[in-house]
Amino acid sequence: MQEIILVKYGEMALKGLNKKTFEDVLLKNIKRRLKSLGSFDYAKAQSTIYIKPLSDDADMDTAMERLGKVFGIAALCRAAACEKSFEAICERSVDYLEEVLSYAKTFKVTAKRADKSFPMKSPEICAQLGGVLLEMFPNLSVDVKEPEVTVTVEIRDTHAYIHAENLKGAGGLPVGTSGKAMLLLSGGIDSPVAGYMMAKRGVHITAIHYVSPPYTSDRARLKVEELCQKITDYCGSIAFFCVPFTEIQEAIRNNCPEEYFTIIMRRLMMEIAQRICEKEQCMALITGESVGQVASQTMNALMCTDAVCRIPVFRPLIGMDKTEIIEIARKIDTFETSIQPYEDCCTVFTPRHPKVRPKLEDVEAAQSCFDFSALIDEAVRKTEVKVFNLEV
Ligand code: ATP
Ligand code: MG
Repeated sequence: MQEIILVKYGEMALKGLNKKTFEDVLLKNIKRRLKSLGSFDYAKAQSTIYIKPLSDDADMDTAMERLGKVFGIAALCRAAACEKSFEAICERSVDYLEEVLSYAKTFKVTAKRADKSFPMKSPEICAQLGGVLLEMFPNLSVDVKEPEVTVTVEIRDTHAYIHAENLKGAGGLPVGTSGKAMLLLSGGIDSPVAGYMMAKRGVHITAIHYVSPPYTSDRARLKVEELCQKITDYCGSIAFFCVPFTEIQEAIRNNCPEEYFTIIMRRLMMEIAQRICEKEQCMALITGESVGQVASQTMNALMCTDAVCRIPVFRPLIGMDKTEIIEIARKIDTFETSIQPYEDCCTVFTPRHPKVRPKLEDVEAAQSCFDFSALIDEAVRKTEVKVFNLEV
């Protein structure tokens, strides 16, 4: 008989009245990920989702791999299904768990009896199945405190389920349960990680990227699109806005004092992002900034950037070291793409001596050398949008 997948929710299980909404979004996200792998039946009970394949050819390995990237799942495992009789449970346990039990030294059995009509009580199932397994696998001894393997038997309405693994899930909250925010996505290492981290908190990500052709190349833009595609594994579909930024950057270069180029550019990026946020109902901005990483990320510079922001700016990497950020970038498989050497609009017209501790009034005075409003309107008007979907 078949195998099923058990998915346990994490933090969501603690949500009181809202729990149903969270569960529904999680289920929808799971279904979308598994749609191309076969047809499945889904059942919910006690902070667990039971995913049962409806045909023998469902691709369970890929299903597990995809589910491992779904936020809102604390743990997941594959389980063997069998008929609800003690004999069938024993036989299936020996057969299904043979490999793990042959190599382990210690184990214990736990039982959950959702179907109270099953004739044996949980302690009895544990004791008797434990006895059978000890006999079959002489290498094993029982350790109830710290067993290497915990064999779990669940007696549910139609079947009994047996499993021994418990893989850690992606954690967090289901994407879509915390509203929508706009990620300023560059081709670097940091911003894809920032997007991943906010998606983990249930935020639906929309991305914005600024390009300055001919100073930045098509290849640089394609790299960012590739990053956007990669993070859909975790974030789900992402609408990607690409803003033509050349004229604005040239206007800054031609009209403003050089040491303020970068900070003015960042303020204008924020202005444009907020204009698009209004249209897209995004409630916050997200960047990959971290205190002190570069001149535009000192506290003074961040304050000058935030002064033009009317909505919150989330900076999930703010207190992280580059090595910690890289570790996550590797885990989510964006690192190798991020380190490809293509220019970003932030690296064209960089001042030789940027102001490390800019004062807001000086930045405002420097920016007022030119009226950017017409150029901002035009950049917003010429922004192109493209949607990246989960690759399934
Ligand atoms: P990253 O590794 O993400 O590129 P960084 O350390 O290179 O970050 P900056 O170039 O100063 O830092 O950019 C800081 C943040 O500004 C980025 O994390 C990103 O959120 C945003 N950003 C920078 N360049 C762009 C761009 N061309 N389009 C959109 N957002 C950008
Ligand atoms: Mg960058």
